[in-house]
Amino acid sequence: MTNSEEKKGLDFVRAKVEEDIASGRYDGRVQTRFPPEPNGNLHIGHAKAFNLNFSIAEEYGGLCNLRFDDTNPVTEETEYVEQIQADIRWLGFDWDDRLYYASDYFEQLHDFAVQLIKLGKAYVCDLTQDEMREYRGTLTEPGRESPYRDRAVEESLDLFARMRAGEFPDGTRTLRAKIDMTSPNINMRDPVMYRILHATHHRTGDTWCIYPMYDFTHCLSDSIERVTHSNCSIEFEDHRALYDWFLDELGVFHSQQLEFARLNITRTVLSKRKLLTLVDGGHVSGWDDPRMPTLSGMRRRGYTPEAIRDFLGRVGVAKTPTTIEVELLEHCLREDLNRRAVRVMAVLDPLKVVIENYPEDQTEEFEAVNNPEDESAGTRMLPFSRTVYIERADFMEDPPKKFFRLAPGREVRLKHACLITCTGVVKNDAGEITELRCTYDPESRGGDAPDGRRVKGTLHWVSAAHAVPAEVRLFDYLFREETVDDEPVTTPDDDAAADVADAVPPSRTFDFASLLNPASLTVLTGCMVEPGLRDAATGVPYQFLRNGYFTPDSIDSRPDGLVFNRSVGLRDTWGKIQKAQKKG
Ligand code: ATP
Ligand code: MG
Repeated sequence: MTNSEEKKGLDFVRAKVEEDIASGRYDGRVQTRFPPEPNGNLHIGHAKAFNLNFSIAEEYGGLCNLRFDDTNPVTEETEYVEQIQADIRWLGFDWDDRLYYASDYFEQLHDFAVQLIKLGKAYVCDLTQDEMREYRGTLTEPGRESPYRDRAVEESLDLFARMRAGEFPDGTRTLRAKIDMTSPNINMRDPVMYRILHATHHRTGDTWCIYPMYDFTHCLSDSIERVTHSNCSIEFEDHRALYDWFLDELGVFHSQQLEFARLNITRTVLSKRKLLTLVDGGHVSGWDDPRMPTLSGMRRRGYTPEAIRDFLGRVGVAKTPTTIEVELLEHCLREDLNRRAVRVMAVLDPLKVVIENYPEDQTEEFEAVNNPEDESAGTRMLPFSRTVYIERADFMEDPPKKFFRLAPGREVRLKHACLITCTGVVKNDAGEITELRCTYDPESRGGDAPDGRRVKGTLHWVSAAHAVPAEVRLFDYLFREETVDDEPVTTPDDDAAADVADAVPPSRTFDFASLLNPASLTVLTGCMVEPGLRDAATGVPYQFLRNGYFTPDSIDSRPDGLVFNRSVGLRDTWGKIQKAQKKG
């Protein structure tokens, strides 16, 4: 998309930003932030969020901060903090020196809480979690006021100080905002601001035994950083009233929260907590398993930042939730790799072919085009000798009519090399084909027939004397069904509330076993690849002719033990889906 095209179809977030710039709100300043919780690796849904925030800052001459929302000491880890930064950088974004942590604001947040108590807008409540739930009411019934709601300001101040001092066990008291127990918006029914949690925090250690809730922390962190547009996903829409309430009651800088639809993709789970279940359950090799929709997994699989940004651009930003076909994501990757991948020879299921009229001790080299889509990629020399490997599936002893590849008496082209004709089939005692015998036409060097005769089949091959063995990993979807994740999305405070109650948070009950595709990983050993691939570098994409796009595995591949991941196959199914959608 060009700039002017983008302007025409401005999404609602950018439209709001432009409106605010035009009206002089925030003095025309644009400040965004991306606020991940360091409790897992980022997935492509997060990429939608940070792509939006960083891009808006870029487009409107503003800044975007990276802020770790680290208010839940129980689930957060430093390792995730590092990985998240690496993933954002990989996609091409930078926050310069504006790396912040909500935990850096703990003291300030505590002071804001004290201020709200003094204003009569917050109180210490002694209800247990279960009682609190009872008092909260339901969507159709109003809540009831806590018996502690009207306790004296002095008493709440004293109790809050003693909560902080560690006098009370976990879960025995909370600090709550005094708003409205009859509000139709349950988030406004005296929400918890602080909970007691004797847990070590990844940054503040044991300094605190009370921790602020997400809703209280988030709006004030935005305010402290003077964020103008606080863009978040739609599950926070009902929390905006509370976001605004805290800022209004405290009379501090007021950021604007805007909610956009989450990214959903077919056959894909986009929830850190659920992905963690996959990791913990050993269903994948880790957060960076190439089948995972995490940025670390996608990178390892061979996704490029360009393909992901192209995809996110096509998906766009809107308020209405939609589910995007995973085939569109694959299409974007395929288009990008088609432009940049060098075409190479790799035989995944080798069948030996001996060319009987080719001299035994001879080798020669044929020139091969690196990328027909990109002339500047140049050419390379491919070694050839008397014995080559072809794909087992490229030979049939008794071929059906439409089979144009190799068969007894048939002539085919070995790409870039020469024409060969099958003269014999060698089998073992079990009747399996172990080897083919062929002759070649010495006049057909480079693969052109000297007399212009038609040869339909063109096969990829490698020279047996020069080929390098490799392991190849093929991937299918992790989930069998199109739709895997239609449960309501929870917010950090839903989960924190459940944590306090020592219950299982709603998002942690996901039952994977029945949904998983048992054939999502296929490992092929004994593959043979052209010798140049011995030096294949991590992150460099290749097209294995006729087999798809591949890249060396960043963890397991070594020069003396090559391992390639298939990033995506060659066949594009997105066009077909689009056509069907237009018809339907
Ligand atoms: P999850 O729900 O996947 O466990 P989260 O929402 O708890 O993730 P955070 O680290 O809190 O993860 O999210 C950081 C930001 O990314 C938030 O602003 C959130 O709205 C946004 N985000 C998370 N998932 C998606 C998604 N699928 N699509 C768009 N934005 C998302
Ligand atoms: Mg969430």
